[in-house]
Amino acid sequence: MQPFAGLVKCADCGSSLNVSYDKKHGRYTGFSCWVYKNYGKERCTSHAIGWKTLNQLVLEDIRRNAIIARTNTGEYMDMLIAAKTEKKKTETDRCRRELKKVDKRIAELSKILTKLYEDAALEKISEERYQAMAPGYEREQVVLKEKREELTTEIAHSEEIYENIEAFLPVIWKYTNITELTPHILNELIEKIVVHEKVVAEDGSKSQQVDIHYKFIGCVNWKREPASYETIEAAVLQEHQTLSEQTA
Ligand SMILES: [Zn+2]
Repeated sequence: MQPFAGLVKCADCGSSLNVSYDKKHGRYTGFSCWVYKNYGKERCTSHAIGWKTLNQLVLEDIRRNAIIARTNTGEYMDMLIAAKTEKKKTETDRCRRELKKVDKRIAELSKILTKLYEDAALEKISEERYQAMAPGYEREQVVLKEKREELTTEIAHSEEIYENIEAFLPVIWKYTNITELTPHILNELIEKIVVHEKVVAEDGSKSQQVDIHYKFIGCVNWKREPASYETIEAAVLQEHQTLSEQTA
């Protein structure tokens, strides 16, 4: 079975990409949209991509994630959290602090309203005075309860992302040094690979977007190319050499 079976999808029609096989040389050659192949250009476009190209792209992406995750775990986690929540961890912390304040004020308001109600009931304050004061506190209470709802949803969302990232790290860490993709590696790491149609720029240069969706964390769209990647890679290689020298 080819390692990518069932994983590679067409970005436009969502069907799986068909894999072509060169019997003579006994190797896979490329992928193209299944719908296009079977129903033609009325239904989709080819979305063709070479086997080697896709293989190399995925291999490099896995290694890049693995190396950065291993050598710079904190920054890697921050990057993922920021990419997934579009907010930094500091903002989640701010939400937590705000939630605390909101909870405190809700408790205060509840006390105030009870006291007011009791005072009115015991005729310590007039009905008029009660009517003048209570609605304002009640409105504040409603607004704060809505705010509370928003904050807890946001915190829960960040926590879920955080847990997923923590589950993903030990899996990706293992793959800093892989040189080829196996069905096992792909199955463990990859949810799906979405291939877009090639785009030809005005100057004739071609580009093709491939979105690699990982298990747990989804698609990692690197907003910035990690500049230190090559340095990090060199450091990892160095580290491995040192390790094997020590064990030898
Ligand atoms: Zn298609």
